[in-house]
Amino acid sequence: MKKNHKYIFVVGGVMSGVGKGIATSSIGKILQARGFTVNPVKIDPYLNVDAGTMNPTEHGEAFVLESGLECDQDMGNYERFLNIDLRDEDYITSGMVYKSVIDRERNLGYKGKCVEAIPHIREEIIDRIDKAAQRNGSNVSIIEIGGTIGDYQNIMFIEAARVLKMQRPGDVLFVMMSYLPIPNKLGEMKSKPTQNAIRLLNSYGVQPDIIIARSEKPLDKKRKEKIAVSCSVRADHVISAPDIESIYDVPVNFEKDNLGEIVLDLLDSKNKKKNTNLKDWKKFITKSKKALGGKKEVHIAVVGKYFDTGDFVLSDAYISIIEALKFSSYEVGVKPVLHWLSSKEFDKGGAKLKQLKKYDGVLIPGGFGETGIEGKLNVIQYVRENKIPYFGICYGMQLAVIEYARNVLKMKDANTAEINLNTKYTVIDIMPDQKERLKNKDYGATMRLGSYPAKLKKGSIAQKAYRKDKISERHRHRYEVNPQFVEELSSKDLTFSGTSPNGKLMEIVELPTSKHPFFLAVQFHPEFQARPLAPHPLFTEFIKASVKKKKK
Ligand code: GLN
Repeated sequence: MKKNHKYIFVVGGVMSGVGKGIATSSIGKILQARGFTVNPVKIDPYLNVDAGTMNPTEHGEAFVLESGLECDQDMGNYERFLNIDLRDEDYITSGMVYKSVIDRERNLGYKGKCVEAIPHIREEIIDRIDKAAQRNGSNVSIIEIGGTIGDYQNIMFIEAARVLKMQRPGDVLFVMMSYLPIPNKLGEMKSKPTQNAIRLLNSYGVQPDIIIARSEKPLDKKRKEKIAVSCSVRADHVISAPDIESIYDVPVNFEKDNLGEIVLDLLDSKNKKKNTNLKDWKKFITKSKKALGGKKEVHIAVVGKYFDTGDFVLSDAYISIIEALKFSSYEVGVKPVLHWLSSKEFDKGGAKLKQLKKYDGVLIPGGFGETGIEGKLNVIQYVRENKIPYFGICYGMQLAVIEYARNVLKMKDANTAEINLNTKYTVIDIMPDQKERLKNKDYGATMRLGSYPAKLKKGSIAQKAYRKDKISERHRHRYEVNPQFVEELSSKDLTFSGTSPNGKLMEIVELPTSKHPFFLAVQFHPEFQARPLAPHPLFTEFIKASVKKKKK
C-alpha cells in the first residue's frame, strides 16, 4: 500500500442523478488547484465487465480511454475537469471484480480455500483501489461509488471502503452526496431523507465526514445545523450545493463553502503549493459566460438515433460531443444552440430535407446498425450539395464516404459490410481479424479501440486545424474504409487527409474548401479528447465554418 496516500470516497444518498460525478470531479479540481496530483476512480456496481456492450439508451455514452477501455461517462467528466488521461486501473466494475476472483479460483489461486464475498471480493476491491493509487506521483484518490446507499449492488464496495478506513486511520474520508427536496406544496426544504440516508450508511459501519447537500436552493444556517445535530457531522462540514447553470461552476461554488480547506484539514495534509484559486478554470468560466450571454448564436443540428427513450437519455448518449461543441463555441465566442434531429425522419428524403437550411452546421455522430441509415445518407447528400458545413464522426465518416461513392462516383448501392454484404461496392468493410471475432460471437472489447496515431496531409483542413502533421486520437469501431476502393474514392474531390502511419487505414476524409465551406469527417472520436482548457481543433474549425455560413 502506498504510504501517505489519501483516499476520499464519494457515496450517494436519497436518490441518483444529483451529480456525484461532477462533485467527484470538482473535489479533484480544487485539490489539483492546490498542487495535489489526484487520481479519480469510478466504481460501477453493474455486472457488465465494461460499458462497451450496453446500448447507449441504457447507460448513456460509452466513454473510451486512451487504452481503449470502454467505460462510464463520468470518466469523461473526470478527464474534462482535471485535464488528465485516465488509465484502466481508474475504472472498477462488479463484473471486473467478480471475474478476476472467479478466474483466480478456477486456477487454484486460492489454494483450496472456500472462496467467499467476504473476504475475497472485498480484498479484490481494496487491491484494485490500491493499484489505481499507484499512479505516478498521485497524492489523493477520489473514488466515486456508483448507485445510492441502500442498493444491494454497491454494498461490497462500501464495505471495502469501510475496511480501508480501518486499515489506514487518518487517510480515508467519506463524502456523502445527498439531496434535500423542497416540495411544492410545502415550500420548505426537507432534511429527513438525508437523515435517513446517513442512518443507513451508519448501519454499514460508515460515518461520513462531509455532507454535500444538493438542492434547488442554497442551504441556510438552520438547515445545516439540523443536519449536523442529527447526522453527527459538523455544521461547517455540510456543503451547500444549489442548482446552478453550468456544471463547470461547481468547483468554484464548493470553494465558497470552503470545501478545499475542510478536506485538507480532515486529511491533515498541508497545502502543497500556493493555491492557484482555480485561475485558469475561472478564465474558462468567464469566457463561457461571455459567449452564452452574448448575441451571437450558432445553430448546430445533430442527426442521430439514440433519442428514442426521451430527452433525458438523448443528452446522455452524446455527452462528450455536446461538451466538445460547447468548448469550441466558447473559444470562438458564440453561444451554441443544439438541435436534435432523429435520422429516421429523413429516411424518405424529399421536402423534409429543406429544413436543414436553417442550421449553420450539421453533425452526424457515431452509431451502429441499420436504423435511420438512409436518412443519414440523405442528410449528408443535402448538406454536401447545399454547402452546409458538415462534421462526421465515425459512422458519420463511413456514411459520408458511402454517400459520395453512390451519388458522385456512381458506385451503385455502395454500402458498408455492417448493413449489406451483397453489393459490388463494399466501400466500408470489416477487417479480417474482426471477421474472426464476430464469427465467435466475441463482442466485448473487441472493436478497434483506444488511441492510434495518424499522419496528416500537408495543406489539408485537418492539418491546418491541428497545426501539426502527426496526431493521436481515440477509436471505437469495427469497420474501416475498404483499402481496395481508396484510389477510386479519391479520384475526384474527396481526399483522405489523415491515414494510419503505414497509409493503410483511412482516418480523415475531406472536400477542398474551394468546393465546400467545410466537409470533413473522421473515423475516430475527437470528442473524447476535447477539454474545457483545451478545446478540440476540429470542433473549433467546424464551429468557425458554421459561424461563417451564418454571416452569409
Ligand atoms: N458502426 C460503425 C463501426 O462499427 C461505426 C461505429 C461508431 O460510429 N462508433 O465501424
